[in-house]
Amino acid sequence: MSESLLRQELVLTAQQLDKNGLMPVASGNISVRCNDGFLITPSGTTVADLTPESLVWMGFDSHVRGDLVPSSEWRFHQDILQHRPELNAVVHTHSTFAVTVACLGWDIPAFHYMVAVAGGDTIRCAPYATFGTQELSDHALTALQDRKACLLAHHGLLAAHTSLEKTRQLAHEVELLCEQYWRVRQMGEAKLLSKEEMAVVIEKFGSYGQIRKQP
Ligand code: 13P
Ligand code: ZN
Repeated sequence: MSESLLRQELVLTAQQLDKNGLMPVASGNISVRCNDGFLITPSGTTVADLTPESLVWMGFDSHVRGDLVPSSEWRFHQDILQHRPELNAVVHTHSTFAVTVACLGWDIPAFHYMVAVAGGDTIRCAPYATFGTQELSDHALTALQDRKACLLAHHGLLAAHTSLEKTRQLAHEVELLCEQYWRVRQMGEAKLLSKEEMAVVIEKFGSYGQIRKQP
């Protein structure tokens, strides 16, 4: 996809996340792989102010092209896209229910089979580190091992997938799982699915949906 189409798609992704309530005030940031680097949202801007031209391009050598300062979280965007070549887009949000669970420092266990959308039988919560630091990026990369999403303690959520649209959907799904887990915990201890059942679900997800449809 051309850089100009990626710029448009990134802005649409931010608008959709905002519409779904996942980007309160000026929190959160989004990136997409582009021309030996990535496009990333500028720091401290609201979704309403975001335009395709306002996005910053950044190389994997941290060279920057654009008028604005890139997101303060460029380190984890860069590290995820550099160390996980199968992933092409990253979404970070401070969405309410992800923040709620992350402030307890809890991993999300296999209370529902959809936990497997993140790639494993839990969604991990990375330990706290100050926003924008290499320490936070290192913690995030570790929590994302064999996973496409994680929580960041006292902070929010991170999702990464093969495209902007799939990443947006994954971030939304993780936010819903956090809300559902929060509700379950109001009622009592969650009963968990076994590792074996989660392995079956993860396997089934590999062939779920329209991917096998022949013309
Ligand atoms: P930016 O506005 O710099 O992207 O930071 C928002 C944020 O979520 C920090 O963790
Ligand atoms: Zn943040």
